Amino acid sequence: MPFAFMRRRSCARPGGWVRMNARADLIHGFGRAMQDRYGERVHKVALDAGFTCPNRDGSKGIGGCTFCNNKSFAPGTREPASLAAQFERARGRIARGTGARRFLAYFQAYTNTYAHVDELRALYDEALAEPGVIGLSIGTRPDCVPSPVLDLLAEYRERGHEVWLELGLQSAFDHSLSRVNRGHGFAEYVEATRAARARGIPVCCHLIVGLPGEDESHAHASLDRVLEVGVDGLKLHPLHVVKHTILAIEWKRGDYVPLEEADYVRIAADLIERTPWEVVYHRVTGTAPADMLLAPAWCAKKWDILNGIADELARRGSRQGARAGQPWKEQIHAA
Ligand code: SF4
Repeated sequence: MPFAFMRRRSCARPGGWVRMNARADLIHGFGRAMQDRYGERVHKVALDAGFTCPNRDGSKGIGGCTFCNNKSFAPGTREPASLAAQFERARGRIARGTGARRFLAYFQAYTNTYAHVDELRALYDEALAEPGVIGLSIGTRPDCVPSPVLDLLAEYRERGHEVWLELGLQSAFDHSLSRVNRGHGFAEYVEATRAARARGIPVCCHLIVGLPGEDESHAHASLDRVLEVGVDGLKLHPLHVVKHTILAIEWKRGDYVPLEEADYVRIAADLIERTPWEVVYHRVTGTAPADMLLAPAWCAKKWDILNGIADELARRGSRQGARAGQPWKEQIHAA
């Protein structure tokens, strides 16, 4: 969740403004980056444009990722409102909150480049025509960004729009990706990232902490590999178990044990410390709707996690980038 979205609810708590400002000094969040660039708040408006996923329909894979809520793909269960209606709702919500007047159209749900480039252009144009929309953030898979799509995004950027390509990598380890049935490897991420950045399109990489078979050393190695390739933004979140997934079956069998809250907070703080300040954190945790979340329960307490990460950085007298370039050492924060 971008820091811009954190303000209203954070401020509703005693000391909320203080903590929000403290977080902005400790982590280079998306809200701060946009404020610095545009001189005012810019909100991402999350959109569901009705896309599906090539990891479900057989064109890239079948079954989908083991943590993905497969029920969402069942016919008739998902009829997203028009983009205009989604913007309308979001504007009302934002007006009651921060009052931001500039927006990024965040094509978030599923694989938002999974269509012919002409269809994509029509959809993206429709979003950009909405009042106050200054750009796009496109969430997709690394193996679903062919050259014509990247050329289209580069074209928007050349026209002066803010454009981000959000690539779901989750882990830089192919065996981990295979275990959760991602249907792509690290090589596809490297290729897509290089191709996008060569066109001037900034890339935000999504990483999951706590994938089956991984420990914190994997999270650190994934971060290192992503930084080595070059990246402009990051999203972190803990793996959570939601209903109607393969992961839920594994969790019920005891084959998957989620992270503890304290471990996630510590690992996230470690990763943030080792990330150069110029990389923008679009999100440092994530959650799921209460009626879908099975475990871990602490994932529902997003504000506690955000404040916990900030408190942990403050306790260390640290901030994003304080240990950039340093190798990860497990014992550093053992005390
Ligand atoms: S998590 Fe993303 S890539 Fe995986 S099945 Fe779901 S929509 Fe597709």
